[in-house]
Amino acid sequence: MGTIVLNQVRKSFGGHEVIKGADIRIEDGQFAVFVGPSGCGKSTLLRMIAGLEDISGGEFLLDGKVMNDVSPEQRNIAMVFQSYALYPHMTVAENIGFSLDLKKTPKAEIKRRVGEIAERLQLTPYLNRKPSALSGGQRQRVAIGRAIIKEPSVILFDEPLSNLDAALRVQMRAELQELHRSTGATIIYVTHDQVEAMTLADQIVVLKDGQVMQTNDPIGLYKEPENTFVAQFIGSPK
Ligand code: ADP
Ligand code: MG
Repeated sequence: MGTIVLNQVRKSFGGHEVIKGADIRIEDGQFAVFVGPSGCGKSTLLRMIAGLEDISGGEFLLDGKVMNDVSPEQRNIAMVFQSYALYPHMTVAENIGFSLDLKKTPKAEIKRRVGEIAERLQLTPYLNRKPSALSGGQRQRVAIGRAIIKEPSVILFDEPLSNLDAALRVQMRAELQELHRSTGATIIYVTHDQVEAMTLADQIVVLKDGQVMQTNDPIGLYKEPENTFVAQFIGSPK
């Protein structure tokens, strides 16, 4: 299960408040997209949900349980970064299997699950290579493989395609939709790209200056933007 609720979530760095009371609800299995200009707080929200950043105020609940003080390892939430964050000295297979290795899963079991995931992500021919010998798209697939091997109920993506060229981005979007279907995980996907948001989302959360401007499905947002910021950002005629 992966129902996410943020109640009046706040974040300050030093005295500077960058998330100003965010209320967000994402149903189990939804593909939610956080969209908004650079610096509006998208990554900070994801990092708080992942447990990589403390929450300064308010609550984050997963399936009704307050998670504010739960360690990242115990959240059953995986995160995929823009920069891939792969271990350069490890092979593709070792990168994908890393979290299971940490949990002392038997070697044969790790090999089997890494093999399955590599098959799904078209990485089988590259299992023994180092990340430096892969293309950008292949590296991002390894990062995705590493995230899904623990079968998380929530997967967070922070601008995962922004380093890829346009054609590859379109292909990877389709792969992410397939990943969503096949895992049934709740996904929160961060982007500053309106087209990507409109294509992928069940629900879009539009952010500006650390505040939620509007939440709706793509068509609802397009047809009924609540203010000029949302209208301009989404590109609606109104
Ligand atoms: P986005 O991902 O939407 O571009 P961020 O969440 O990265 O935005 O940043 C939101 C705001 O918080 C920005 O003003 C940024 O400078 C600030 N910020 C983010 N991380 C830190 C940090 N570790 N220390 C101080 N300020 C930060
Ligand atoms: Mg960011």
